Amino acid sequence: MKDNNCIFCKIAGGDILSSTLYEDEDFRVILDISPASKGHALILPKEHAKDITELSNEKAKRIMEVVKKIGKAQIEALGATGFNTLINTGESSGQTVFHCHIHVIPRFDDDEKILAWNTLSYDDGELDSYAASIIKAL
Ligand code: AMP
Ligand code: ZN
Repeated sequence: MKDNNCIFCKIAGGDILSSTLYEDEDFRVILDISPASKGHALILPKEHAKDITELSNEKAKRIMEVVKKIGKAQIEALGATGFNTLINTGESSGQTVFHCHIHVIPRFDDDEKILAWNTLSYDDGELDSYAASIIKAL
């Protein structure tokens, strides 16, 4: 299903032109217009889902095959030595476009840090209690 107000539905469906790297019946892969590194790709499912939690399991499984294909091509074509795979889910995570997408960001030996965070530590027993809460919700 498409959402008529969704820009990524329009791009994924070909109604708005984009720099398409790859397309099949379920996905379109485009270059991000504001890349974290040059060659930064976005994998867009053609089916509208606001984020990964609403994407069908079938597409969620297949999308990783596309990640692998694009990342390998970035390494081969651009001389990247690795790539980051990123899915922002929800406003607090930094998601700005509410149509599920996966970022595939090529990385180079001499580039600046793109993804980095300060690490925290758990108090005594806290790690087990976090694990128990999450396990209960699975
Ligand atoms: P996120 O913050 O995970 O929701 O990422 C949205 C991404 O979409 C950002 O990196 C934007 O630069 C990118 N973006 C937004 N509009 C377009 C567009 N029309 N074509 C290509 N990339 C876009
Ligand atoms: Zn959409």
